[in-house]
Amino acid sequence: MKQTITSGEADSGEVRLTKRSPTTERRFLIGRYHEIVLKGRNRWRFIEQLKQNLRAAFSDYRLGSIRSQGPRLIVSLPAEISDEVAAERAGLIFGLQNFSISHAVALEIETIKRRAVMIAAGALAKAHAASFRVSARRAEKRFALNSMEIDRLVGAEVGLALGLKVDLENPGLTISIEILPDAAYVSAGKIAGAGGLPVGISGRGLVLLSGGIDSPVAAHRMMRRGMRVDFVHFHSYPLVSSASREKANELAAHLTRYEGRSRLMLVPFASAQREIVARAPRPLRVVLYRRTMMRIASLLAGNVGSQVLVTGESLGQVASQTLDNMMVIERAASRPVLRPLIALDKNEIVNEARRLGTFETSILPDQDCCSLFVPAHPETHARLEDVAAAEAMLDIERLAGDAVKSTEIVDNSFPL
Ligand code: ATP
Ligand code: MG
Repeated sequence: MKQTITSGEADSGEVRLTKRSPTTERRFLIGRYHEIVLKGRNRWRFIEQLKQNLRAAFSDYRLGSIRSQGPRLIVSLPAEISDEVAAERAGLIFGLQNFSISHAVALEIETIKRRAVMIAAGALAKAHAASFRVSARRAEKRFALNSMEIDRLVGAEVGLALGLKVDLENPGLTISIEILPDAAYVSAGKIAGAGGLPVGISGRGLVLLSGGIDSPVAAHRMMRRGMRVDFVHFHSYPLVSSASREKANELAAHLTRYEGRSRLMLVPFASAQREIVARAPRPLRVVLYRRTMMRIASLLAGNVGSQVLVTGESLGQVASQTLDNMMVIERAASRPVLRPLIALDKNEIVNEARRLGTFETSILPDQDCCSLFVPAHPETHARLEDVAAAEAMLDIERLAGDAVKSTEIVDNSFPL
């Protein structure tokens, strides 16, 4: 992970590592995608994006060739990339339904058997299993044996060599064999992929990243649908500690693992808040903060080419998330606002944040800028006329413009 911070501070000066493969090994990452998405005219775009994202995910290595074969991509793995690294990185690539780390051998049953025994023994050395099954797929129909015959012959060999029993229903280990035109690809089973669509295929969005639990989950959901996202965080430093900035930084860096590179914009929000507190009716403060955020985010979106804004809002979760307030807040944005979590319960979002690995960071204590000077009874059904009247007392365009000018930029990239 690399972070480049602009606005005065220098590049971290990290050395770029390129690892080269001395020999080309016959080991491949086979990534499989859903055929459904490939029916349209966008098929080639989808595959190209997936290839590009795979290369980027292994940019600290010299990856071999990538070719597509039916609904799969076959990526040649150099020896330097361990099975673990290959699996970990491939697991971050949206658009892959599942994948395997496979060894290519000659289309010859004795060779396939030998390799299957080696792979099963290797898998057993890493994790205990008492049972196994062989799961062959014959895409190349000219191979003399059909998939059931392959299962049976290879299964008998593996069972005998390693003393394992066959369990078709619930095997501890699966040996997968794919018969393709050029070779048989043997692996210790398929690994579930991240699903979704490759990042980059569905436009760009700017995520309002608060440092709380919800917005990182919202970002992840949009990336999973193929959207490339950047981030904006509003903070009231130095009125409060810099904890929320640090959290936003950490969350943006973590999320960048799914898209290779992203920009985080840290917006100082304290002066805008001071003005709102000094001039606007108390109950409207939160709505006005939010509308100001929408204005600033819309300006920043224009700078980074984001077509839409994304928030972690969920209907009725807090006072600012009533339908009335959301509508009034959204009117201040100059682009559509997407809310991928709108109909989720908090516990569903929490579970997703745990799986995503952002929960622990999100719950670290901080002071969100929106909790600053918040009245005990904020308006829950703001009316546009009242809000407009309050904003007429402020120089809202100047406040937004000033905030944009003092925005700090952090560029993240993964893995380099
Ligand atoms: P989260 O857990 O994402 O903070 P929340 O439940 O705390 O959400 P709110 O504080 O009302 O709800 O925030 C709603 C949404 O507004 C957030 O999901 C986020 O998209 C955006 N937002 C709120 N505060 C900030 C902030 N300081 N910087 C950037 N975006 C923010
Ligand atoms: Mg919050």
